[in-house]
Amino acid sequence: MIMHIVGNRPQFIKLAPVSKELQRRGYRQVVIHTGQHYDENMSEVFFEELGILKPDQNLGIGSGTHAQMTGRAMIEIEKALEDHRPDCAILYGDTDSTLAGAIATVKMNVPIVHIEAGIRTGKLKNPEEANRIVTDHLSDMLFCSDAASVRNLRAEGIADHVYQVGDVMYDTFLQYRKSEGGTVLKKHGLKQDGYALMTWHRQENTHSRERMRQIIGFLKKTRRQIVCPMHPGTRAKLVEYDLMEELEELPDVLILPPVGYADMMELMVNAHIILTDSGGVSKESYFAGVKCILMVDLNLWPDLMKANWITKLDFDSEASIRDALLRMEEKRDGETAVLPDIYGRGDASERIADILERAYQL
Ligand code: UDP
Repeated sequence: MIMHIVGNRPQFIKLAPVSKELQRRGYRQVVIHTGQHYDENMSEVFFEELGILKPDQNLGIGSGTHAQMTGRAMIEIEKALEDHRPDCAILYGDTDSTLAGAIATVKMNVPIVHIEAGIRTGKLKNPEEANRIVTDHLSDMLFCSDAASVRNLRAEGIADHVYQVGDVMYDTFLQYRKSEGGTVLKKHGLKQDGYALMTWHRQENTHSRERMRQIIGFLKKTRRQIVCPMHPGTRAKLVEYDLMEELEELPDVLILPPVGYADMMELMVNAHIILTDSGGVSKESYFAGVKCILMVDLNLWPDLMKANWITKLDFDSEASIRDALLRMEEKRDGETAVLPDIYGRGDASERIADILERAYQL
């Protein structure tokens, strides 16, 4: 039996194609939700919309400091492992739930499978970096989305059981594009190419009032309409810093609650440009054929950076701000994905299932 350990929004989106493929092949699976994301629109909506197996158990760890969440999750994951005794545990991405899963699982002598392994920013100040490093070093089987991730692992001496299978988020993107179920454009009277899509939630941006002021200052200068489905953590910080009203009063900024996957895809593929600090959203910008301005100094997707698909915005540099404002004005050239198969062909989940089948005689 296979155990999936997930806890937040991007992990549900990564879990969807993998669990579906394993289900199609008839394997027994258990989904453990740590409860890191608990709002209905950050969690349940994805299980419903993406038809994911409902979590067998929600560990209810909620929010807190990194250590509180990781500690609580480890204790609860250990109990779940004892109860279910899986053949392997699949971990996704780089969150505190991933880290907790890795540490609890390795001590139970259960093999660890890491999906989206090998991403590195080279910055330990980036809170997810420690999660990535520890998880990869404890994993028995590492599935990478791109060649850069394989190289990163090799540089740390991890070469065995590393597989470049493509990106499971691309699988979800392609599967979902077929149904195209979004309604958000119509609801808010948005036009194709008429707005910039913005999301931001990274600690690097949200844990400083000054940075939040810089972001609002930037939005005041842009002449584009901005549509921002806002992460609850970002909203809480803006309220704490007494900046929410100032942002909401900007005439061209539409703040929405977090949207479901179909609405997000609709917002993404129809945007003029994407402004984000999200790892997932910046990579999906490429799937969607919409260029991206990355509001954080992290080199998560080196190939997309090299190709200038993603360009960085440094709020401490006037020149960088000017560049980004110009970029937002540029005509959208309708470019589609032109880089060859960096993230696979949308069959990452099948390839993962093939390899797991062979390795664990499932
Ligand atoms: N997403 C969504 N609704 C939103 C914002 C994001 O469905 O309102 C999706 C997005 O398309 C991507 C994933 O959530 O698939 C990314 O999550 P997030 O930005 O929270 O995390 P990160 O990728 O930075 O870890």
